[in-house]
Amino acid sequence: MPDGAWRYRAAAHPLIEPIRAFNDNYIWLIRSPDGAHAVVVDPGDAGPVIQRLEQQRLSLTAILLTHHHADHVGGVQALRKWGRPTVYGPAGEDIDGIDEALLDGDRIDVAGLPMSLRVIDVPGHTRGHIAYAGDGYGGDARPLLFCGDTLFAAGCGRLFEGTPAQMLGSLDRLAALPPDTLVYCAHEYTLSNLRFAAAADPETPDVAERLAEAQRLREADIETVPSSIDIERRTNPFLRSREASVRRHLPADLVPADTDDPAFFAAVRRWKDNFR
Ligand code: ZN
Ligand code: FE
Repeated sequence: MPDGAWRYRAAAHPLIEPIRAFNDNYIWLIRSPDGAHAVVVDPGDAGPVIQRLEQQRLSLTAILLTHHHADHVGGVQALRKWGRPTVYGPAGEDIDGIDEALLDGDRIDVAGLPMSLRVIDVPGHTRGHIAYAGDGYGGDARPLLFCGDTLFAAGCGRLFEGTPAQMLGSLDRLAALPPDTLVYCAHEYTLSNLRFAAAADPETPDVAERLAEAQRLREADIETVPSSIDIERRTNPFLRSREASVRRHLPADLVPADTDDPAFFAAVRRWKDNFR
């Protein structure tokens, strides 16, 4: 099927492509329009990145980091030896090799690319996690978002360091981006996320349809990402924890005594943590 034939998977921007790493990580590679340079996002492993750069004869001008976990930063030191990248990363996390430590609201002109990004603080998965939002690329005006392990296709990151209220606030900020923003997340967790979504939000037809489509994509060994903010708003139970259709289906033992939004969000997250 051609790229545009999928309903819950968007065609990536020109010049942006995934590099697969480990079991299910995506390291996003962004090429410069002149075909000379590239930038990678969250290179947990240098091996497959160097292989791709050598294959395509690209120099590495920058690395964008979202958070400190090894599957996102593990390749930084080797890539610094291989090339001369400017390394951007969160000011709020302890990561070796960062050249430009970024705070919420910062804007960067990414070294080597005609790309400007703004930094959004998205604590929850880790305390200092950041995301990068931009206005389009490669002649394609759709906005874009590199969100690491905060927002996934039909899911969100586990709460390792942050509180449910923080993560809900982070996801709210991302959900408020323009609906046509493409979501470039860092893992292929979509199928298991949608199996959970089908239990958590069974009355929403888009969820069942997205699950069926994701099964076809994965059987064909095609990435289910990028998605879009619009797709996530319609099908991601972690962006929908305020919806009656989600709250209604919480298992009785998880229904919170508090009825505030973070309590319901926490209950949905806890349910997913134990979902098989
Ligand atoms: Zn992580
Ligand atoms: Fe990760």
